[in-house]
Amino acid sequence: MPDVISLGEILVEIMRKEKDVPHYVPGVYLGPYPSGAPAIFIDAVARLGASAGFIGVVGDDDFGKMLIERLKKDGVDVSHIKVLPGYTTGTAFVMYYSSGERKFVFHLRHSAAGQLCAGDVDVKYIATAKYLHIMGSALSVSDSSKDACYKAAIEAKKRGVKISFDPNLRPELLDVGVIRRICAPMIALSDIIMPSEGEAIALTGKDNPIDAGKELLKLGAKIVVIKMGARGSVLITKENIIYEPAYEVDEVDPTGAGDVFDGAFIVGLLNGWNLRRCLEFANAAGAIKVTNFGPMEGPKDMNEVIQFMKTAKKRKTKPDYI
Ligand code: ATP
Ligand code: MG
Repeated sequence: MPDVISLGEILVEIMRKEKDVPHYVPGVYLGPYPSGAPAIFIDAVARLGASAGFIGVVGDDDFGKMLIERLKKDGVDVSHIKVLPGYTTGTAFVMYYSSGERKFVFHLRHSAAGQLCAGDVDVKYIATAKYLHIMGSALSVSDSSKDACYKAAIEAKKRGVKISFDPNLRPELLDVGVIRRICAPMIALSDIIMPSEGEAIALTGKDNPIDAGKELLKLGAKIVVIKMGARGSVLITKENIIYEPAYEVDEVDPTGAGDVFDGAFIVGLLNGWNLRRCLEFANAAGAIKVTNFGPMEGPKDMNEVIQFMKTAKKRKTKPDYI
């Protein structure tokens, strides 16, 4: 039985080769690349050496086959990924502008991924895990996917499984009121919350990540980790505020950095490392991810991260509220 379990959307991403080519213009796309925030997370956990399992739904098609094969190859237990006849595997078309802004065309709600439901959550499977990780994106794919996540979290909590939650809902894509409403039950159940800076601010209404983190602690979390892209990350507990700068790398594709970061942080905790070491390790895993094209292309294994940390330089810039 896996130590770390995640559930939610698993999909393929089809990416524009060139920047600044909108989806309404014919042109070259690359892919399919395996994706879906909860799937990227669990793949990172397995690659970094922890025992990992996934609950999700794919269609009875080649995209679904590719996704299952990929997770299996990396060591994820795929016994709870359902292949659903009559539905196609979820897809997302993504393109980038030079400004860094992204535009998506999603086929999720009416795809296999959107059919995940509470009935797919095998409580016995979750009961013996050490961590259950929920992504906010899985709360917005469909009502049944949201119900599956709430059920998993409630049942896990009852059985003493630690819950980590990444809100992973972009304030630019979804109304802040909706984000707060669907995240509230998860925040109340979470031991660890790992939002991006923008999400932490949107969720709490505070104007900086430290105050936002303190607010999230008041709602029940023991550890809040806020991800700040090329400015690194900051961890907030009742006792401590720990800042770790990002590593200096050339960014090729930022998609999935936050999900890989989350996976690495949980692996650090499972390994019994101190919180600063977990943060540093997660920053390194996130930095390696952004140097690779493809949302699930983070570090290949633990050794790659350890070697990277020995040689890579940390950025000198520090946000002014630290
Ligand atoms: P997403 O949800 O898009 O995957 P996120 O907003 O949750 O991302 P980020 O803050 O973008 O998460 O990335 C997570 C971590 O990865 C950062 O805290 C940082 O440590 C590392 N990282 C991301 N971008 C860079 C970068 N350009 N250079 C170095 N490290 C980076
Ligand atoms: Mg994120």
